[in-house]
Amino acid sequence: MHIGVLGLQGGVAEHLEMLSRLSDETINPIEVRTPPGLRQCDALIIPGGESTALRILLDAAGLTDPISSRMQQGMPVWGTCAGMILLAQKVLYHQNLSLGGMDITVARNVYGRQQESFVAEFPIPELGGPPFPGVFIRAPGVIRTGDGVQVLARSDDQVVACREQHLLVTSFHPELTDDLRLHRYFIHMCTAACAERAH
Ligand code: GLN
Repeated sequence: MHIGVLGLQGGVAEHLEMLSRLSDETINPIEVRTPPGLRQCDALIIPGGESTALRILLDAAGLTDPISSRMQQGMPVWGTCAGMILLAQKVLYHQNLSLGGMDITVARNVYGRQQESFVAEFPIPELGGPPFPGVFIRAPGVIRTGDGVQVLARSDDQVVACREQHLLVTSFHPELTDDLRLHRYFIHMCTAACAERAH
């Protein structure tokens, strides 16, 4: 199974490093920068960075439509921070950022500027174990979740992680911690999606 990390901007190396720590003979992390690269992937992580820049680079690389259509066909995709913004069906005040995807509305920079970045711990019951260390860097907020969306975590009453079928979003940066649980969770989502397709 090839799990791609979109390699245009942002926390690319960190996600690849987390995946390589979880790799075995069945998991193969690859960096994706082109449509042929995307075609090799069974799943994709869209890292954090700057959503406006990411969207411009996606358009220039010819990846916007191919990612949207693979997503509609059921390819598992995980968006962290700016990646979450691109995966939200609606982005407050921005009509041209979304790639479609999850039935949520997000607002950019709800926690303020770079200097207001912080780390908060909160439980993610699906993962079990101790609270998760969430690194928030000019993070977006989820301000509406559709009926089919499962809220995986809240921090101070704010929704910070959600899942809808094969799509996962987190407003924080698990790739900047030593905690591999969310990457492991995504790999399980990918394995389940692959198994379903094989039926
Ligand atoms: N504030 C950024 C944006 O709106 C996201 C920040 C991040 O990914 N760490 O795109």
